[in-house]
Amino acid sequence: MSAASGPASVAGLLGEIADVGRDATRGGWSRFVYADAELTLREWFVEQAQRRSLEVETDRNGAIWAWRPGTGPGGGAGSPHAIVTGSHLDSVPGGGAFDGPLGVASALAAVDLLDARGVRTERPLAVVAFPEEEGARFGVACLGSRLLAGAIDPDRARGLRDADGRTFAEVAAGAGLDVDRIGPDPARLAGIDAFVELHVEQGRGLVDLGQPVAIGSSILGHGRWRFSVTGEGNHAGTTRMPDRRDPMVVAAGIVLAARDAAVAHAEARATVGRVVPVPGGTNVIASRVDLWLDARHPDDAVTAAVVAEIERQASRLAEAQGCAVTLTEESYGGTVSFDADLSGRLAQVLPEAPVLDTGAGHDAGVLAAAIPTAMLFTRNPTGVSHSPEEACEDGDAEAGAAALADVLERLLREPVGVS
Ligand SMILES: [Zn+2]
Repeated sequence: MSAASGPASVAGLLGEIADVGRDATRGGWSRFVYADAELTLREWFVEQAQRRSLEVETDRNGAIWAWRPGTGPGGGAGSPHAIVTGSHLDSVPGGGAFDGPLGVASALAAVDLLDARGVRTERPLAVVAFPEEEGARFGVACLGSRLLAGAIDPDRARGLRDADGRTFAEVAAGAGLDVDRIGPDPARLAGIDAFVELHVEQGRGLVDLGQPVAIGSSILGHGRWRFSVTGEGNHAGTTRMPDRRDPMVVAAGIVLAARDAAVAHAEARATVGRVVPVPGGTNVIASRVDLWLDARHPDDAVTAAVVAEIERQASRLAEAQGCAVTLTEESYGGTVSFDADLSGRLAQVLPEAPVLDTGAGHDAGVLAAAIPTAMLFTRNPTGVSHSPEEACEDGDAEAGAAALADVLERLLREPVGVS
């Protein structure tokens, strides 16, 4: 931590939370928004912020902001011309240790580096932790930043349900949020001149290039769709094969159709990572199967074509099995290019850093529609993410935090009104 003991190391910060939300069943970590592990991480973040004398506030959408005030009059929390960095604390089920927390820990370490350098500027700096970036609990990725930016209707957000059937409104209220007030916050966004999110790389770009840190260029367009296949629940032993209307057979065909549709287009990706049969018994033919499709391509029209092809196949398969199928789009974000001018300034600070795009979604991708936004990626030696195999070596984590500090210092020192 700062003053007394010098800048914290990213590895040291992550070490403090290494046991929070470990998932003995899946391996890795499961840190779902507003569940115990994520709430513990929020407390940890607030405590780290307070140790650094940052001013902490939780916004109307549940994001935690830790402000390092500027030197101008009224330069504290929420003051204008802010430079903001941060990421998220929640995870996918059985995820890795770095996706999200690396960006938060690097931001805290960067604050220490700025303190150690004696950087004091008119502009304030804020470190933010967004809730439900992964959408692992309520199904919509980047829920916190979408609400902030007005990219999701607050009524729809309130009505989202988790796997236990609890609504977002109920769960968020239980965690202390005034859920009547969730929604767009244009005044907050208007006070931000730049947002830079550091994130562990979720691919092998930096490994192949032999570099520790990259500047992000764009995020592949991506979305989530839910197929609900309904058939007839029945006994696995007494129901003859020709008499069945088994939605699981249709679901299996949809999984293969998704792969085939993506393979037919270079750069396309389609994944079914979650299948939920109802009632879900070994000796029971399911009455319904829900499955979730994640599809991505740099060209939004191709993504739409891939999904349309899978939907066509799903209808054909359902008809053949005497089942019915519906398709619901749960979220979609088109391809996002980060702010060219801001990314150019990052490149001046980090001339060695390669420029990489990513197939992964981020809060930065949502905020890019509203404010100048950029990203930094830190090398991941396995190239694997959303899995316990995700990795980041200590030296690279420190290089990432130093790069972030350099970038933040540059942006903070820019005269107010120039950005
Ligand atoms: Zn992430």
